[in-house]
Amino acid sequence: MGDEILAIADGVMGWFWPGFDGPKDTDSDYERGYLSLTAPDTFELKTLDEDSFRDELLSHLPYPRLITGSTEHGTVLLLDFKGAGQKIRMGGAASARHYRGRTILRDVPIEKIRSERLKSISAHFFGISSWFGLSTSVESLGHRDDGKLKSFTIAVESQPEQSIRLSGGRELVLSAHWYTRGSTDKRIIHAPVELSCRSVGRAESLWNLRQPLLRVQDLLSFCYEGFIAAESGRATPDVDGAEIDRSQLWDGWLMAAPTGATAAKSRDFPLLRLEDIGGLPALRRWIVLCDNHLRAVRPIIEPYRQGRASAPLRLLEIAAAMEYWVAAHRRRRVKWVKEKCCKKGSQGCGWSWPIARHVGGHFDRWVGDSREWSHRFWSAYNKLKHEPEYVANEVELGILADSASMLLSVALLCRISGNKEPARKLFADTSHTWQLQKRIHALLQEQRA
Ligand SMILES: [Zn+2]
Repeated sequence: MGDEILAIADGVMGWFWPGFDGPKDTDSDYERGYLSLTAPDTFELKTLDEDSFRDELLSHLPYPRLITGSTEHGTVLLLDFKGAGQKIRMGGAASARHYRGRTILRDVPIEKIRSERLKSISAHFFGISSWFGLSTSVESLGHRDDGKLKSFTIAVESQPEQSIRLSGGRELVLSAHWYTRGSTDKRIIHAPVELSCRSVGRAESLWNLRQPLLRVQDLLSFCYEGFIAAESGRATPDVDGAEIDRSQLWDGWLMAAPTGATAAKSRDFPLLRLEDIGGLPALRRWIVLCDNHLRAVRPIIEPYRQGRASAPLRLLEIAAAMEYWVAAHRRRRVKWVKEKCCKKGSQGCGWSWPIARHVGGHFDRWVGDSREWSHRFWSAYNKLKHEPEYVANEVELGILADSASMLLSVALLCRISGNKEPARKLFADTSHTWQLQKRIHALLQEQRA
């Protein structure tokens, strides 16, 4: 989180103008209030209701479209509300209102704000520039003639931005950003990756601009096997007149690890890097895939937003996603979905079978016997759904669910990369997957014995 916006998170007082129909004139009545973060992903603004018998808001307090404010730490624009309420008191007690939401912009020309829409939004990610194939800083050591260390130099340089068009007049922009803080003898250098979504035309809703960034964040979290939080950000509000400098952004969706989800433990060895998937064009294909086929993608990204579910639930969700993925292609008469099961007329191999076949030899060799694996996985799915007397072995279901999740992930990633590189990286090269592979081999062998 940016230093200045952090000051707001700790709690600030100010004057606020809740806009129920649009931005409110800053010359009009304000509400005095206190703004703070009450949860990692939520801000709350509490205001004094000094005119609680105003007719229009008496029965219930609607969600504002936006709130502008002037605080002791600068001006703010509050967006993305998820709660609003009021307590009307009589006698000596004060009436109060509260507004809860997830997005704060700081340092905003509040008198010029035109709407709750934005022109752009950016998220800064630290420690993962190598995932994107970017590097902003170069470090070097200088030595004296006798070999002793003489100097240390660090150079930071902005990289040319790379951009790609998305649907809806939006653009996804990748760049490396840097800034320094502190005095010359205690300089702190920040050089994060900056991932932005901007509108090429008129200002867009926060939702439309943030969604592609959340999808890329989902992919990052999958690759690092844990939630990757953005640490700071910028946004450009919709203002009258010339475009202004970007404001600082705090956003609960992008910046707070959801309850139940675990943060990525290490940022050194991701499952895959962007170049393994196909670079920036693959990010656009990933966003389109999520837009069009969220039912297929959800079980592989949701653990990083919702937390890991139990083994039976994971298995059910992945099998249902596979069923969906095959059905979505069957409608388009794609060849690989016609891959028949071993027994004529039987669905024993289930819909995991055509997917396993389509991913190909890398998976077959990794799992040992993809037909055997597929029978085992799909029969567990059928038993969970249809046999009330079936007593599940949770360990076995966990192994089946995890391997199926890996297969589905690779199938989807091969689709966006347009080649089998993700399969090679995760199944032929087993540096990330050997433990799971050992457990599947043991499971399949145990059954044969
Ligand atoms: Zn079969």
